[in-house]
Amino acid sequence: MLVLGGGPAGCAAATLLARRAHRVALVRPFTPPGAGLAESIPPSARRVLEELGALEAVDDAGFHPNRGNGVWGAGGPLRREEFASDTEGFHTDRASLESVLVSVAEAAGVHVHHSTTARSAERNEDEWIVACSGESGGGELSAPWVVDATGRHGFLARPDRVPDRSTTTLALVRRWRKPGGWSDDLEHHTLVESYERGWAWSLPLSPELRCVTAMIDQRHTNAAGLELDGLLDAELDRTIHVGATRHGAEPVGSAWACPASLYTSDRFARRGLLLAGEAGSSIDPLSSFGVKKALSSGWLAGIAAHTALVDPTMADAAVDFFDRREREVYHRYRAISAGFFEEGAEAYGTEFWTARAEAARTFSDDVALGERDPDRLGTDVPKAAILAAFEELKARERLSASRGRSVTAVERAAIDGHRIVLKEHLATDAYPEGLRFWRGVDLFLLVEVAPKHAEVPDGWTAYNAVAPPVTLPDYLTALATAFAAGLLEHE
Ligand SMILES: Cc1cc2nc3c(=O)[nH]c(=O)nc-3n(C[C@H](O)[C@H](O)[C@H](O)COP(=O)(O)OP(=O)(O)OC[C@H]3O[C@@H](n4cnc5c(N)ncnc54)[C@H](O)[C@@H]3O)c2cc1C
Repeated sequence: MLVLGGGPAGCAAATLLARRAHRVALVRPFTPPGAGLAESIPPSARRVLEELGALEAVDDAGFHPNRGNGVWGAGGPLRREEFASDTEGFHTDRASLESVLVSVAEAAGVHVHHSTTARSAERNEDEWIVACSGESGGGELSAPWVVDATGRHGFLARPDRVPDRSTTTLALVRRWRKPGGWSDDLEHHTLVESYERGWAWSLPLSPELRCVTAMIDQRHTNAAGLELDGLLDAELDRTIHVGATRHGAEPVGSAWACPASLYTSDRFARRGLLLAGEAGSSIDPLSSFGVKKALSSGWLAGIAAHTALVDPTMADAAVDFFDRREREVYHRYRAISAGFFEEGAEAYGTEFWTARAEAARTFSDDVALGERDPDRLGTDVPKAAILAAFEELKARERLSASRGRSVTAVERAAIDGHRIVLKEHLATDAYPEGLRFWRGVDLFLLVEVAPKHAEVPDGWTAYNAVAPPVTLPDYLTALATAFAAGLLEHE
């Protein structure tokens, strides 16, 4: 098994595979691109880090805690988004994160080719042969499956790439140090502010060090004759709050620029090749989900490759499953950022915002016409329908449920442990692709158990007696989902 790239996606895929006893080689250049970039990682990434056995190492690395966001959208007041008090995310620079994750991969048994770059690749009938160059002279590596996790570079991913041509985003980045720190109650928060020409954010790497970035449109920026320090200062001077974090602070080094435009892929996987993380698609960093998305994608690439290696008859199902998940994840993040762009377009009416709002709208239309409703996200049931079903459940004194009239069983791929397997799903006319698990609740069992109980807590107790226990809120959500999807009906 060969993994190209030692970022979050590559390390996640390699670690998972090594822990499943596969021989794994990982190739990484000495310095990752944008090594000085700061990353804000939300607490929700802890789950996938834990799954990979990397959480302890990341906790021990002593990264600056991430406790939430402070957002000034469209000239509005500060909106604080606080993470739950018992959980923290991390603020780290990309190089430090990569070095922790690579150490975890090595400890799991991955053979890491440090300071090595993949230069060319050929596929014969059963395997890839990848020519590499590096400090130790390079050479050829071969493997039946390759995970391309080379990020934006997209070593094998390029031919499948679909860029968003209507927008081009450039990130201008610089660090500032303030002796004594900023001494406000946002020292653990990422600060985000939109302004007429783009958006800016300021991310703390320690109490005294912040990384400040402006995201602008490359095509609407006349950088000729301006050096990057001046260009970034000119952008930050247009903001009210984020630019002010420079006051009383000293710049550390010069500003630099890196590309941040969006793209997705026509196809995220085929037999022998999986495009993980940013090799396959890039989302707006405004969501601060890039690292989490890359870790989850690498984890899933590892599961897909593991499945194909131990059971070649499942290779096509694993490839399709990975491809579909990656597509859905990109759609989901586009949908999340669409609201931010609409808000900016309405407030500023400038090309930066109107072009992005329009691109998000066009993308949603294409998806709805060509594939599926982006609000539904594959087999997921829309949140509004679940809430409506929940309200109806609350309004009823007693539950009198029966199995939905159009319910049939269909076989679909699903993750079970660390394998992709075919499992029976419940399909209805509205959800022909089928549903199986929701919030950890097995809908197959729920549809058996719920009609036998007039009180919801009794149904929950009965469910927990025959399945791995779930919480009452998760059971309730799954129950509402089953009604919303037509798996259950009120009598
Ligand atoms: C300005 C900016 C700010 C961002 N801020 C955040 C943030 O705050 N929070 C967040 O979660 N995300 C953020 N992101 C996104 C985040 O950085 C990426 O989503 C994430 O790093 C993707 O991980 P990856 O493993 O897919 O790719 P990468 O991290 O890019 O890793 C790719 C790896 O492949 C290696 N590589 C490249 N070419 C080759 C080759 N030919 N052979 C071998 N190896 C190769 C590289 O050296 C690197 O190790 C930001 C992005 C930008 C542009």
